[in-house]
Amino acid sequence: MQANDDQCDVLVVGAGIGGICAATLLARAGYRVLLTERLDRVGGRASTEQIDGFLVNTGAAAFEFGGALEQVCRTVGVPYGAGSATGRGVRVPRPMVVLRLGRMNVDLTPVIGGWANGAFRWICRVSLDRLPRFAAERGLRPEDVTFAQWLHRFTKNRRIHAMLRNPLASFFVTEADELPAAAVFTFFSQNTGLRRFGFHPEGSIGVSHALLERFAELGGRIRTSTEVRRLRVADGRITGAVLATGGTETEIDCAAVISDAGPRATVELVGEQHFPQSYLREVENARPAALLAVNFAMRNSLGRFGAMTFGPTKNGRLLELINFTPTCPEMAPPGWHLYLGWGLPVTTADGFDGEREMQALLEDLRTTVPGFDSAHILSTTVNRDDWPGQHAAPGTDLSPATPIPNLWNVGDGVKNFGDGGTESVAKTSRAAVDAIGHTIPPHTPHDYRPART
Ligand SMILES: Cc1cc2nc3c(=O)[nH]c(=O)nc-3n(C[C@H](O)[C@H](O)[C@H](O)COP(=O)(O)OP(=O)(O)OC[C@H]3O[C@@H](n4cnc5c(N)ncnc54)[C@H](O)[C@@H]3O)c2cc1C
Repeated sequence: MQANDDQCDVLVVGAGIGGICAATLLARAGYRVLLTERLDRVGGRASTEQIDGFLVNTGAAAFEFGGALEQVCRTVGVPYGAGSATGRGVRVPRPMVVLRLGRMNVDLTPVIGGWANGAFRWICRVSLDRLPRFAAERGLRPEDVTFAQWLHRFTKNRRIHAMLRNPLASFFVTEADELPAAAVFTFFSQNTGLRRFGFHPEGSIGVSHALLERFAELGGRIRTSTEVRRLRVADGRITGAVLATGGTETEIDCAAVISDAGPRATVELVGEQHFPQSYLREVENARPAALLAVNFAMRNSLGRFGAMTFGPTKNGRLLELINFTPTCPEMAPPGWHLYLGWGLPVTTADGFDGEREMQALLEDLRTTVPGFDSAHILSTTVNRDDWPGQHAAPGTDLSPATPIPNLWNVGDGVKNFGDGGTESVAKTSRAAVDAIGHTIPPHTPHDYRPART
């Protein structure tokens, strides 16, 4: 092993969108940052690969406007929306969301982001206020009331349940009978609530590339194909890390670490012996939420929309269909239309059979999407375990801070209650960077100890 070939103030483990946001914010604040990514591609679950001439996303497809990610971009001086001077950036589809009812598309954009949105948010706020009473009447805690239980109070209609379950399950990556109603009402009444979202014409990796260009301008360093193997601990603090690039291991000293690898993986990098049992129990209790995805292309168009949601489908797996090419024709060769189907697997206490669940989703697509039989399937992915839809299902998140004072997690395993996706991840990055700003000045030696007060 080569010793101490490098030094930095903050080591960031993982160049997912969370690691990239944190690294760029830190570089802007004057920290010497090293960002490491084990893969040869950046963006993690919000990245893009080229398949047969199509730009196929590895996970996230839709980015919100007016929220934490756009805020991070603004802070570091990176254009976010396509209206920017460069013309790069996220573009809003029109209509944004439609509901497929038989052969008809009902435009839901007014409810999501238009004239009816105020009423929708008001309903969510009132529902949140009424939740404690509803829970008490059933002998439950408010956070234990599921969305399905709440909805049953008003209707048992299977079609209405499916119409609400599908978009919510796709956002929260959780079945309606496990999804806390409070998470839904909190998200839609207090957050950006998906009011406006869009796609990036370079694929989702375009957002990461734009931030990383700025990161480099600010003096940040990135090493791809470099895995952090171990985080070194002395006197209860992280002092450095062992990195592996190809077959070569090197060591680096650092004053702080931000990990985007997920809380479980972070504990493994440090070693369980360095954490209290109570924290290890919390990590154990955080349930990764699984999501199925099918990227496919067709010659025939399904019409203009960004996202299409459904009533009941044959197997109940298909949640939503994303339609890229009317908004971002650059993502497909001429004459092709690029689509993405998201599905939720049926889970049991033993988990689920990924192959069987994928077949059930494909059957839903065949029976729901006209022309799917002749579609060109570009990728099918079962996103679970250490590459999940979300590292923590709603209500099972940890906090970004860890019991080790100079180690923070970012990402969708440490998000605020009711948050989800890249928005939640950007918020956690900001929280971790703010915490570092309060405790560790830039250009801090790795053996620095804050004064005891
Ligand atoms: C199918 C699917 C669809 C989704 N759709 C959306 C959507 O439309 N909109 C939305 O907002 N969100 C969506 N999400 C959620 C979103 O993708 C994630 O919340 C977000 O991308 C997570 O970002 P992250 O940076 O926290 O983690 P990740 O993207 O998982 O990044 C972590 C990175 O760390 C790297 N890493 C791990 N361990 C190490 C190590 N030891 N050393 C070096 N590197 C390491 C990994 O390789 C990875 O690149 C979707 C997720 C999936 C799976």
